[in-house]
Amino acid sequence: MATNKKPGNWKKRTLGVRAGTMRSGFQETSEALFMTSGYAYEEAEEAEARFKGEIGGYQYSRFGNPTISMFEDRMAALEGAAVGRATATGMAAVTSVFLAGLKTGDHVVAAKAMFGSCLHVVEQILPRFGITTTLVDGTDVSAWEKAVRPQTRMLFLETPSNPTLAIVDLGAVARIADKHGALMVVDNAFATPALQRPIEFGAHIVVHSTTKYIDGQGRALGGMILCGQKFLDDHLQVFLRNTGPSISPFNAWLHLKSLETLDLRMKAHCENAVRVSDFLAGQKKVTRVLYPFRADHPQHNLARAQMEGGGGVVAFEVEGGKKSAFKLANALGLIDISNNLGDAKSLITHPETTTHQKLTPEARAALGVTSGLLRLSVGLEDADDLCEDLEQALKVA
Ligand SMILES: *Cc1c(COP(=O)(O)O)cnc(C)c1O
Repeated sequence: MATNKKPGNWKKRTLGVRAGTMRSGFQETSEALFMTSGYAYEEAEEAEARFKGEIGGYQYSRFGNPTISMFEDRMAALEGAAVGRATATGMAAVTSVFLAGLKTGDHVVAAKAMFGSCLHVVEQILPRFGITTTLVDGTDVSAWEKAVRPQTRMLFLETPSNPTLAIVDLGAVARIADKHGALMVVDNAFATPALQRPIEFGAHIVVHSTTKYIDGQGRALGGMILCGQKFLDDHLQVFLRNTGPSISPFNAWLHLKSLETLDLRMKAHCENAVRVSDFLAGQKKVTRVLYPFRADHPQHNLARAQMEGGGGVVAFEVEGGKKSAFKLANALGLIDISNNLGDAKSLITHPETTTHQKLTPEARAALGVTSGLLRLSVGLEDADDLCEDLEQALKVA
């Protein structure tokens, strides 16, 4: 196989198209899909040498697969990480980082504005192994510092957060992690490396649900862990090989090929989200619009300092609570009601009754998830059509 793994100083758009490409003897221009579980050896001696790690090459697709390697290397190049490991889903990536990197007695500090299943893992699963977590308001830098204990091994956060798009100061939290010898783990699903590269700000590990913007077309689940060689060697590699949260080569191929358009797509998502958020802010029935790059976002300056664009998600509140939010969603003719996000198709959800339904009313209030709040994942349709759809639905709400 001819490799193309040394990207030099290529820019992000070039990395998305080219980084990690390996060509087989057929010299195919488009990356090949290696739909295979296993690999054959010329001789028994070769099998022995590969298992001993004396020579390179693949052994079994739970350990590695050429299509998956291309996806991992391209993602690592985009995030500026030493290595990447793909997983079946975003949750497999998050859970693997915790279970591979932590042991009984360890402590985690995490921002409470967190994806629902991540919250389940830290609150319900980790305690069964004697790993405790303190949840903090991620936007309050002093709260991170106060929550750290001698046993703290990881700081975990998502920025922008779901669904209210709160921004966590990546550089400030990284400095706290370094001061205490803890690993800072960032879930970068909302921004993607096209808009934000947490490792540049000092994060040690980045996790992704590649199901979202990396796929970009709502077709397949996937996840990714980006980290340093040491975390891979000391913790992750042996955990992943033996527990098997592996991605299908087919899904890895879809997401690999999607990276070719990631930069273009994210720019278009951002442009549309700016248009839609400006439109919503001018509507009488809309009481609040949350979008990181709007001047009225509480952390607008921080967002601009660490992101290249505000992303594709807009949250807004309609007057009249749940009743009007439901009426608005039901009246939409173009935008679909769906709890997924990061699709080319615009999708709207009512967090209180879907993604954040399992939280207590107090926990929802602390996150700003009110009854009138809607989360809109702005797709790649024409922004005029999206605004027109929202305008007619707001009349009904
Ligand atoms: C969707 C999502 C996840 C979980 O990813 P899956 O691919 O659905 O397992 C984790 N974090 C964030 C921020 C997400 O949006």
